[in-house]
Amino acid sequence: MPTDRSKVGDAPQFIKCDPVSRDFPPGWKDVWFRRMASRDEDGVVSYECPLCSRRFDHRDINYLQGDHMWPYSLFGDTSWANYQLICGSCNAAKSNVLETEIRLALGSGEFRRIVSQFLRGRPEAGKLSHFIPLPS
Ligand SMILES: [Zn+2]
Repeated sequence: MPTDRSKVGDAPQFIKCDPVSRDFPPGWKDVWFRRMASRDEDGVVSYECPLCSRRFDHRDINYLQGDHMWPYSLFGDTSWANYQLICGSCNAAKSNVLETEIRLALGSGEFRRIVSQFLRGRPEAGKLSHFIPLPS
């Protein structure tokens, strides 16, 4: 089930985030957990991992990990808007899948073709012409 982001509200003002860093502020985990957790029929407050739907109570906070929804390796922001809290096994599985997909995309030559096509257009548009020798 996708996360209902309206429930989580704005980024906590009292915690600074460095947008250039790969790491999210550690304090965001607790804020996110408390805003998104819910109480089940037995009165236990727990948080549901948005990827696998397993539930975790606050004692498991160290197993939950702040994650870039749009991956950092693909230029995703380190920002509240790109943040989600997922469990450790989903985070590991996600990075394995992404690594494989990125390697496939790079290896297939498709990425090179797209970048090459983009760069070839630049000198023609009068940009970068001093920096990139045009291939014959
Ligand atoms: Zn999970």
